Amino acid sequence: MFKIIRRNNLSTEKIRSFSNFVKVVEVGPRDGLQNEKNIVPTKVKIELIDKLTESGLRTIEATSFVSPKWVPQMSDNAQVYQNINKKPNVSYPVLVPNAKGLDDALKVGVKEIAIFSAASEAFSKKNTNCSIDAAVEKAKLVIEEALKHDIKVRGYISCVVGCPYEGEIKSTIVANLAAALLQYGCYEISLGDTIGVGSPNKINNLLHDLENVSSDMKKFALHCHDTYGQGLVNVYAGLERGIRVFDSSVAGLGGCPYANGATGNIATEDLLYLLHGQGLETGVDLNEIVKIGEFICSQLQRRNQSKAGVAILSKNN
Ligand SMILES: [Zn+2]
Repeated sequence: MFKIIRRNNLSTEKIRSFSNFVKVVEVGPRDGLQNEKNIVPTKVKIELIDKLTESGLRTIEATSFVSPKWVPQMSDNAQVYQNINKKPNVSYPVLVPNAKGLDDALKVGVKEIAIFSAASEAFSKKNTNCSIDAAVEKAKLVIEEALKHDIKVRGYISCVVGCPYEGEIKSTIVANLAAALLQYGCYEISLGDTIGVGSPNKINNLLHDLENVSSDMKKFALHCHDTYGQGLVNVYAGLERGIRVFDSSVAGLGGCPYANGATGNIATEDLLYLLHGQGLETGVDLNEIVKIGEFICSQLQRRNQSKAGVAILSKNN
């Protein structure tokens, strides 16, 4: 007779050697809706964020203070920010591209902002009309000003493994950028695989190089897109390296206007299903997120991109 010995697999043991709590940063209302073709009424955006607040999420990126000329989808930023029900233990960061954006954000009492930079010269030029170095200098001024007002700053780096114009991106560029943004005062750096071309070995190599920037991996978040279906395996690679913050959007909202065919962020539903399945805690109610995914998809008349969301719904009906 065989005696069956149960043992954890090595990967699970590795993951459990880090903290059990994972923070999910919901970026649907900003990164998601900003990249949707249909403009969503302000009332619906507010309802979406209020529902997300009730689901147990601790961080919800609410909107962005960019010029309405560039991003008409976010022109109701002040109205949205002022009218959402803000819970004291929940952060509502807003994306701010420059000093003007910060001014506008300060006027409505924003407590946290996100600034962005790209690890690709060509992407930086297309997206912000300046070189990487110039963009970082601009970001530095915004960070300094924000810190003077006691505003927390999250830093985004986009195209961390690949760029639609340049192809593969060297991880040393990402590491240098991350080091600069942390030094200027960002409390966390979100590493964006903006076009979703990464695979686990690339993410692993990148995170290995970032361990030289900060030994505390809690300073880094992963922001994966699912263009090539690699979103969740990349999350898993991050979990093994001690990453404990992940960005996602409900129903997989979004895309990337500068990269043809790039799909949305990984879906929050799918991310939660993975994390909870690994015995990790998020404090977020997956069933509530599934309902919210359906809500926003029906408003947008869009297909739900979350596989877990669709599966849970069909089981419940
Ligand atoms: Zn994104």
